[in-house]
Amino acid sequence: MAEKTEDVNSIIFLVIDGVGDLPTPKTPLQAAKKPNIDKLADKGITGLLSPIKRGTVPGSDTSHLRLFGYDPEVFYPGRGPLEALGIGMHLNEGDIAFRANFATVKGGVIIDRRAGRIETGDGKKLEKYLSTRIEDVDIVYKHSVDHRGAVVFRGPGLGEFVSDTDPHATSTSVNKSVALDKTPQSEKAARILNKYTEYCARVLSEAAENKERENSGKLPANILLLRGAGRYRHVPPLDERFGIKGICIAGGALYRGVARYIGMDLVLLPSTEDDKILQERAYAAVKAAKDYDLVFVHVKGCDNAGHDGDFNKKREVIEKIDRLMIPIIAKSGASIIITGDHSTPVSRKEHSAHEVPILIYSKEERYDNVKKFDEISCMDGGLGHIRGKDIMPIMLNILKKSEKYGS
Ligand code: ZN
Ligand code: ZN
Repeated sequence: MAEKTEDVNSIIFLVIDGVGDLPTPKTPLQAAKKPNIDKLADKGITGLLSPIKRGTVPGSDTSHLRLFGYDPEVFYPGRGPLEALGIGMHLNEGDIAFRANFATVKGGVIIDRRAGRIETGDGKKLEKYLSTRIEDVDIVYKHSVDHRGAVVFRGPGLGEFVSDTDPHATSTSVNKSVALDKTPQSEKAARILNKYTEYCARVLSEAAENKERENSGKLPANILLLRGAGRYRHVPPLDERFGIKGICIAGGALYRGVARYIGMDLVLLPSTEDDKILQERAYAAVKAAKDYDLVFVHVKGCDNAGHDGDFNKKREVIEKIDRLMIPIIAKSGASIIITGDHSTPVSRKEHSAHEVPILIYSKEERYDNVKKFDEISCMDGGLGHIRGKDIMPIMLNILKKSEKYGS
């Protein structure tokens, strides 16, 4: 980090998904060897962040919206539209979107929620059967990876408050969707959804590809389960609301979807997180920092390790980020923010409301006495305790794009 860098007036914002944890007796951040991140903490300013607010357990979607200045209470469209956007679907105002996944049913009972871990290529082949029209509603299915995809309903008078057909369990039947708010709009969407589920069961059981799967001893992908209904609406993009241009470098569909929803451009690198891809994300960030105000870089591995309850894996992901990404990013000349979207303590295997550490390294910021980036050290940081809604104003100040309040 000693060589001379050309300063660029932009921010590289690295979100380490689910990075926060509880000490057992150390947290993964405390246990990790991460000299490069700690150097940034030493030279920068740190603190603790409640992505939504104290005591609220953030979802990744709501948290990212909040970090980028979009109050989820106003702007959250539900998971479905974000996933659909994230896999590149086009959405119109009022469309209802769902997450979808192939599963296997036998005798009316779900025996595998991932259709025998169907490969992306096989899922893609089934895509052609699943777009149709029911009543006056056009339905589009797009496959993404593994057993996953998204479905969009486009038509008049549709409500989004419908229950999932996905029972989120095996050894049970597919759920019938019902209107959760009893409006005629949601009643209509639930009715179409149930008809669509029957349609999918029929065309998928007749599909030659599934017969082939069965002949070769694989489970057929003979049902599509839907969940996470939400209504898409256009929201004012980042440049309109804050006068900044943003770009997203993330693997997961959800993060790409959040980014597209708020008008960020995308860098499309593979969604895996092996060493090479992590480095490529860092190089892409440095390049993007020359043309964009805000470069959002996302790493998912820590959250996955947290959900798996795997302390060592979580520590290793942090060490990889430190070794493979930070030296590249640190030379960009951009301001650097590192934080998480929530804690995913390995002892809980799920998200929690515990604050996450945050660090800002910028010539447009102060520094404090904290020398390490972890949950405990950052308690003493100069930023104090901040909330997700504070992040965008802090970034605008760094970018010198804040407007004066008063005269
Ligand atoms: Zn997350
Ligand atoms: Zn998670």
